[in-house]
Amino acid sequence: MSKNNGSLLTHLECVACGAEYSAEELQTVCRNEDCKSILSAQYDFTANTLTKEELQRRPATMWRYREFLPVYDSENIVTLGEGFTPIIPLNSFGKATGEATGKAIGEVTGEATGKRIGQPHVFYKDESLNPTCSFKARGLSAAVSKAKELGVRETVIPTAGNAGGALAAYSAKAGIKAHIYMPKQTPNAFKTEVLFFGAELREVNGNISDCGKLSNTEAAVHGWFDVSTLKEPYRLEGKKTMGYEIAEQFGWVLPDVILYPTGGGTGLIGIWKAFRELEQLGWIHGKRPRMVAVQSDSCNGIHLAFQNNESSSTFKDKGITIANGLRVPKPYADKVILKVLRESQGNSVSVNDSAILESLREIALREGSLWAPEGAALWHAFKILSQSGWIADNETVLLLNTGNAYKYLPFDS
Ligand SMILES: *Cc1c(COP(=O)(O)O)cnc(C)c1O
Ligand SMILES: [Zn+2]
Repeated sequence: MSKNNGSLLTHLECVACGAEYSAEELQTVCRNEDCKSILSAQYDFTANTLTKEELQRRPATMWRYREFLPVYDSENIVTLGEGFTPIIPLNSFGKATGEATGKAIGEVTGEATGKRIGQPHVFYKDESLNPTCSFKARGLSAAVSKAKELGVRETVIPTAGNAGGALAAYSAKAGIKAHIYMPKQTPNAFKTEVLFFGAELREVNGNISDCGKLSNTEAAVHGWFDVSTLKEPYRLEGKKTMGYEIAEQFGWVLPDVILYPTGGGTGLIGIWKAFRELEQLGWIHGKRPRMVAVQSDSCNGIHLAFQNNESSSTFKDKGITIANGLRVPKPYADKVILKVLRESQGNSVSVNDSAILESLREIALREGSLWAPEGAALWHAFKILSQSGWIADNETVLLLNTGNAYKYLPFDS
């Protein structure tokens, strides 16, 4: 580990039983047979010397937080410019309309005052501007970088589309061979891009769980490294950078509510982890946001478990949805997702495809942006929660638009 990058990573820890694992070798999930829970990267925040001021002078990618990311040697960072996406006020809600200044608050202006930028406001963070057009880029930039550092030659992933594209792109950049398992019904653009990136594509008759069963078997046979959602610890680290950015871009005062389209839940868990870390750094104080998991009616096991006060979810798959990324019948980290929702005094909403499409049209018309169906689901969920009074008019709300619709077009295929 020659060129030290300043990473404060010390080890990994199981979120359920607390078992500790080395960060100097490849890890997957907890090896304790009756645990198998997800591993969470741990850092020595007491050794941090980075200041908020210094941070503002850094490049506008997620690697600006490199001390709190898992790569030791800077030569191993595989980057395509992911992260530091803008946070944009929505025309359509709250009293933002008259006050919007036209200035994206995502810009590093050096004038962050710690005050909220105008309120009440409803904003979205535009993750569609990431490489390969979704926030999956963050997780896979981190995972592929760490895999490269630990000597991985071939990777494998079951994917609804966006994660496969991101894995293929970062693997191409890293010189690593990627194997992608994708449902046959996935829109064409998702398949085409992975082929351009030189990955091997396997089309599977079934959903992402079926892809996972196959890829799991093949991975064991060929010795490929499996980067499935949360069975690999560092995609979570990439996605947590959304939480760091939200804090930084809002001037270190967090919004009241964050809506997140929940598939495997990596982003939700990651953002929550980021807030805890930022508190350890002493960079944020006070109340954390209420986290809302938004799901598709097609796969809404988290929603049902949350509403029924259960601590784990059951397998739910009612078939195809246009929000591919939300078709996860049983998230591996369901218990952790539900814990975050409860800890944050959050909520859950389930949305059907016709509401998603209608929202997508409305957003395009009013906001000039073609959101991924997963993101568009949040628009509908926001309306439900604000109409019911669960979100008050004076609250600051952030919708995470996780991708863009272009790869899904046309929606009838
Ligand atoms: C994968 C994906 C999601 C779900 O993300 P998780 O981290 O699995 O919860 C949401 N939106 C888009 C566009 C996705 O690709
Ligand atoms: Zn464990």
